[in-house]
Amino acid sequence: MSSICVYCSSSNAIADAYPPVARALGQTMGRRGHALIYGGGAVGLMGVLAEATHEAGGAVTGVIPSKLQDREGIAYDADELIVTDTMRERKRIMYEKAEAFVVLPGGYGTLEEFMEVLTLKQLGYHDRPIAILNVDGFYDTLFSFFEELRDGRFARASVSDLVEIVPSAEAALDRIERMSASDGQVA
Ligand code: AMP
Repeated sequence: MSSICVYCSSSNAIADAYPPVARALGQTMGRRGHALIYGGGAVGLMGVLAEATHEAGGAVTGVIPSKLQDREGIAYDADELIVTDTMRERKRIMYEKAEAFVVLPGGYGTLEEFMEVLTLKQLGYHDRPIAILNVDGFYDTLFSFFEELRDGRFARASVSDLVEIVPSAEAALDRIERMSASDGQVA
């Protein structure tokens, strides 16, 4: 079992196609005995994911800055809730606790979190699995821009050398479990 940090949308206004993906990831993580580390909110895909993980028996750790906690209310389904003073502190804790990362569809916040773990991996600060669920080609335009960066030598590695691009929750966890096992970590 791994502690998996998931970055995903905090929006309640996105298309109906996306919450089932977050629910499937939570259910699969819980069923396979993985623990969830996430942004602590009860909103958007974050709330759906945390509730599904919890219901499927997975441990849930929410990490939330006090300002957002006041605004959004508490993550009712977190087994552990860590409240931080700042967003930076919150991101650091999420990063340090994670053995692997999963990225679902999201907005600026998700992209910022994804870019950080991607950049740190390119620089060799960590070698943990990062799986990105490219639901219905959600991230295709981002990946094609990344290829332009690579072609222009702005990026050293292709995104697919650093990140597992997968179509489903099952595929994300299959890759993470395989990579963790081959690293000699506990999968
Ligand atoms: P976004 O993709 O802009 O909706 O931001 C979601 C991501 O950023 C999540 O993975 C969270 O870690 C963080 N985040 C951004 N906004 C919030 C919020 N209102 N509540 C909790 N976490 C948030």
